[in-house]
Amino acid sequence: MKAIVKEKPGKGFKMRDVPVPDDLAPNEALVKINKASICGTDLHIYEWNEWAQQNIKPPQIAGHEFTGKVIKTGSNVSLVSTGDVVTSETHIPCRKCIQCKTGRMHVCKNLEILGVHRDGAFAEYIKVPETVLWKLPEDFPKKYASIMEPFGNAIHTCFVENLAGKNVLITGAGPIGCMATAIAKATGAAKIIVTEIMEYRKKLAKQSGADYVLDPTETDITSSVKQLTNDNGADILLEMSGNENALIQGLESLTNGGTASILGVFPGKITFDINSLVIFKGIKLYGITGRKMFETWQIATELIKNKRVDLSSIITHELKFEDWEKGIKNMLDGKAGKVVLDIE
Ligand code: ZN
Repeated sequence: MKAIVKEKPGKGFKMRDVPVPDDLAPNEALVKINKASICGTDLHIYEWNEWAQQNIKPPQIAGHEFTGKVIKTGSNVSLVSTGDVVTSETHIPCRKCIQCKTGRMHVCKNLEILGVHRDGAFAEYIKVPETVLWKLPEDFPKKYASIMEPFGNAIHTCFVENLAGKNVLITGAGPIGCMATAIAKATGAAKIIVTEIMEYRKKLAKQSGADYVLDPTETDITSSVKQLTNDNGADILLEMSGNENALIQGLESLTNGGTASILGVFPGKITFDINSLVIFKGIKLYGITGRKMFETWQIATELIKNKRVDLSSIITHELKFEDWEKGIKNMLDGKAGKVVLDIE
């Protein structure tokens, strides 16, 4: 089969012919991949940054967001059958630790991640434990099926509090920030204010439903948010940028007793005044990782199936599998939202 492989340490991927991974463990299923989409994590692995150097052991197939069809099952598989249309949670929980045993598999102590710790989804076939597969209706739109994993990140971040009637500030309009914008819109947020510096992403944020898009290089975010919210400040901050200044501006812009959900991953340690920005304002801070298994997936399925959230502007490129490098380059240049690869 064809696969996009990180062959050895260093920058880049190669498209290679590799064996179909049909040597299934009893609990695994083999999925023929229909579509896969490119994530920021794949870019880190492509670029071979510090995080990738510490976490990836080449040779390994990249990619983790996908949809496809189950074509073979291991001897003990009972949750899926041959022919099922599926997408997949990418965090493989151990099912043995306290977190897993108490219904919190998204914070499993022994997580294994597809495309990071084991072969991923930029390939014609992938083998995965049946536990992580999520069945979809046959007629579920395939391009949206392939981006349900990051969409789930957005849902998880948005839904720690009820957004209805709340003024929401979203820092960072990458694909997940834009998805969060669309979710906030769909669930009745009052004003949706997005901060972003890149022109391409500002447009995507507008198309996704942002009422105001502010550029921190041009505007003082804190005073603009106050102005837009009757001098009150935002009720809820959804931090999607992983940028220290954006987080600080976000916390400054929150009203007393507000909530911050933080999904953005920062490049390293950051410094901010926790006394004035969190403690004395009575802010609730939530760290968000992964998706709830499988509450988030159920919500994602229903929102897309019932066309409650418009993700059409967020998928900016649908490319042939062979054109994968074009997708990666567009994303690195900041000239793409989600890039979906047609594999089948
Ligand atoms: Zn666990």
